[in-house]
Amino acid sequence: MEFGESEQPVDYEIEEFLGSGYWVIAPERRATRSACANVLRRLPEAIADQVINLQRVILLAPSRGEWGRALPFSWPEINQPEPLPSIRVKDGTSERVEAPQATVVTVRFSLVYLSPDLEAESPEVIVAVTAHEIAHGITGQIIGEESELLADQTIREWGFGYELDLLREKNRNHRY
Ligand SMILES: [Zn+2]
Repeated sequence: MEFGESEQPVDYEIEEFLGSGYWVIAPERRATRSACANVLRRLPEAIADQVINLQRVILLAPSRGEWGRALPFSWPEINQPEPLPSIRVKDGTSERVEAPQATVVTVRFSLVYLSPDLEAESPEVIVAVTAHEIAHGITGQIIGEESELLADQTIREWGFGYELDLLREKNRNHRY
């Protein structure tokens, strides 16, 4: 998927992504869906690429009445399909056996959950919380005060400073 000349995803790409199943937003979560589209539209290109094209962030915004939900995901395995035979190497007088190295591929992604309580907040607060949780997912940092400051600093750099200030006015001790 190309982002075109704007270098950021355009509306139809965002709608397509929101309908793709990677982000599960209950139909009644209209404010949350709108905030999610807003955040996707404004993310820096490289981050939008990670979220939209590489599916590094899975997002779940359920309805209040939803008691449980499973989200199965699959990735192609990139490990060697079959073990290779060991190779005997003559090195002067000694011999050694070279075994092929195993290929380990780590697929990293994060799950963002947006509480139904968020639906009652202002659009700016929902945008800030959504961007903040995506920042946790992208940085991979979720533990301690430093991770919170990093997530806030990250979304300020992404251009969500206005929304972040409104969120922190409302919730100074956001610690998740
Ligand atoms: Zn946080």
